[in-house]
Amino acid sequence: MNGVKKLGKIIAIANQKGGVAKTTTAVNLSAWLSLMGQKVLLVDIDPQGNATSGLGFNKDALDNTIYDILINGLNIENVITKSVIDNLWMLPARMELAGAEIEMVGIRNREYLLKEPLRRIKNDYQYLIIDCPPSLGLLTINALAAAESVIIPIQCEFYALEGLGQLLNTIRLVQEQINTGLNIEGVLLTMFDGRTNLSIQVVEEVKKHFRDKVYKTIIPRNVRLSEAPSHGKPVMVYDRRSRGSEVYQDLAKEVMGIE
Ligand code: ADP
Ligand code: MG
Repeated sequence: MNGVKKLGKIIAIANQKGGVAKTTTAVNLSAWLSLMGQKVLLVDIDPQGNATSGLGFNKDALDNTIYDILINGLNIENVITKSVIDNLWMLPARMELAGAEIEMVGIRNREYLLKEPLRRIKNDYQYLIIDCPPSLGLLTINALAAAESVIIPIQCEFYALEGLGQLLNTIRLVQEQINTGLNIEGVLLTMFDGRTNLSIQVVEEVKKHFRDKVYKTIIPRNVRLSEAPSHGKPVMVYDRRSRGSEVYQDLAKEVMGIE
């Protein structure tokens, strides 16, 4: 249907565990969706600002960040910044956001501080991808309140499933009390190592639990994926032909519903 613009979809990437590839997935999924012609806003709501620097932004040089939207009520249009990649825009974050969870406690509607501004602009984009911090605090709650669905990355490691119950519980509470429209978009297996039985066991176990919610695309360990952020580049800009780049393109296709 030529000329008909697809409505925006807000997807949070969440798991309270650190190091499971939330940021890697947020950055590289966003970049591939953009390269495939989708207009994308990458939203960083982690005080560490890894997605922000992963796209090459100098955090010290930014005038405004997501903090100014959540705490100072600044207009979202004044914070969104164009990235160097076509079709890809960024809502950046940096360290000041660490104080926001405490400052939010005194604010009315503190769970909805991201939802209102994001929902207002969402149809200016086709995908709005939120990179969550490694906790289930108010920042993640704000992301889950604003999102229409959530992608859960799970690392293929021994403790992979530990803490997952807590995350699913939080998602259920948000669905009941804050955001009835929230769905699980998909479960993404990351850092797979086919040489170990452990990785294979984790895949089987996660598939048993989540069945058709598990993406067909499994992200293997790939050194290019871990190198790219230090160059401030998504993997397909850093090394387009790498396996890491290919698999995140596969994921972008799955998210878009093209096989
Ligand atoms: P999170 O945002 O969940 O804390 P990150 O995306 O920052 O996790 O990933 C944690 C670390 O693992 C980072 O150093 C990242 O570069 C690395 N990493 C992520 N995915 C892969 C992968 N598939 N192969 C190798 N290293 C990876
Ligand atoms: Mg991260």
